[in-house]
Amino acid sequence: MELEGVRRLVQERGSDLAFVVNHSGGKDSTRLLGFIRNKFRDSPTYAVMADTGFEHQRPISAADFARQRCAECGLNLTVVRNPKRTYLEMVERRGMFPSPRFRQCTSDLKRSPVEKFIRTLPHKVIVNCIGIRAEESHSRSRLAPLAVNASLTTRDRTVYNWLPIFDQSLAEVLAWHWVNAIRLHPVYVPEYHKDGTTGGYLRRFSCRVCIFSTDADLRAIYENDRVAFEQVSHLESKLGYTMRPGASLVQIVSAQTSTAIEEARQQSFCF
Ligand code: SF4
Repeated sequence: MELEGVRRLVQERGSDLAFVVNHSGGKDSTRLLGFIRNKFRDSPTYAVMADTGFEHQRPISAADFARQRCAECGLNLTVVRNPKRTYLEMVERRGMFPSPRFRQCTSDLKRSPVEKFIRTLPHKVIVNCIGIRAEESHSRSRLAPLAVNASLTTRDRTVYNWLPIFDQSLAEVLAWHWVNAIRLHPVYVPEYHKDGTTGGYLRRFSCRVCIFSTDADLRAIYENDRVAFEQVSHLESKLGYTMRPGASLVQIVSAQTSTAIEEARQQSFCF
């Protein structure tokens, strides 16, 4: 339904209208990129990545990986940043971590630099495309898939926020990559990759340690990206403030290790 509305807008506004594709290098935003290029190949389209300064760097940086996916679609990638602080600097200056409820990291390091970029564009209508899917969380499922962005809309420019892959499932996103032979970043777990064997340790393509990292993610980060784990852990000690309420990263990972050892011990009694 939203797609028809956007198609009508494109017909009415022609080159006055441009798409902005928010692209992180992750699976959903790559699917988003493919969707927009497939449906609106003739419309002016800008791909933009907000770099928080705490993005994956190995075995290929998030920015380089995103740039490659954009090039495959015939687009250049513009990487934007908050000029004043990276994610870790923001945490240190505030003396506390952002929380799922008050996501200052998203607003300061992602949304705000992208909004600044959008304000520089000459088009009268901007469709700002974001790769959010309803399936990801209850709060995301309640978002409007197409809405006017009031803070960016002025007398001379109308900006819409559009979530074109809102209804797609994880399986559909992965299948699209596999069918079209589109690479997934190597940090994703093997089951996300077509061959099911190569791959990394994460299910979400976020900052290297994210406020939404699960216990299992933190364990995987501890084992696979010790530098990032220790950077955040060190900040917790320095600030006297933990990223997750009630337990430090070290405590969360240690508790999992103790549980695993205890389970192994109990299993060994069974046989
Ligand atoms: S990926 Fe996580 S830590 Fe990074 S900006 Fe987004 S919510 Fe914040």
